[in-house]
Amino acid sequence: MNEALKAKIRDIPDFPQKGILFKDITPLLNDATAFRQAVESLGTHYQSTPIDVVVSIEARGFILGAALAYYLQAGLVPIRKAGKLPYRTHKATYELEYGTDVMEMHLDALQPGQHVLLVDDVLATGGTMLAATDLVKQAQANIIGIAVLIELSFLKGRERLKGYDVFSLLRY
Ligand code: AMP
Repeated sequence: MNEALKAKIRDIPDFPQKGILFKDITPLLNDATAFRQAVESLGTHYQSTPIDVVVSIEARGFILGAALAYYLQAGLVPIRKAGKLPYRTHKATYELEYGTDVMEMHLDALQPGQHVLLVDDVLATGGTMLAATDLVKQAQANIIGIAVLIELSFLKGRERLKGYDVFSLLRY
């Protein structure tokens, strides 16, 4: 089944910059069966784990995160790039290839102790997800798991997320 889903991921060389092989998930999203299968396969992994809130990362993370929150009957919290959220925020800095960037989450988005599932489309070097864990920790919520559709294993993002339960559906 995962091979069928992998067939729906389109590789785009040198996007958004030279040397990056971009994993384009839009053909998977476009296919009703594949999209449903992806959401259900991620969702069933957490069937016996109570999740209060899915926290997802701008922008493609929102697509999967929203579907997964609905499936798990959980709430949804967006993490966005600096300056996009309207209310007061927690902030976390993360590294880019050149320099750093900041992502934010609303101060009142999570309650202490809530069970959180972090969701994104792709886990690459893990820097983005590590910053997301920082935001959830600032809110004193509990990270129950980290779910991604695609893990680029060769970039070893998982190693930067030691101590967290990382689940990926498709590995490269
Ligand atoms: P990283 O912080 O290196 O783990 O990068 C993860 C973030 O960048 C995710 O939000 C992904 O959407 C995006 N990303 C990184 N590498 C890729 C890739 N090869 N294809 C698609 N998205 C990627």
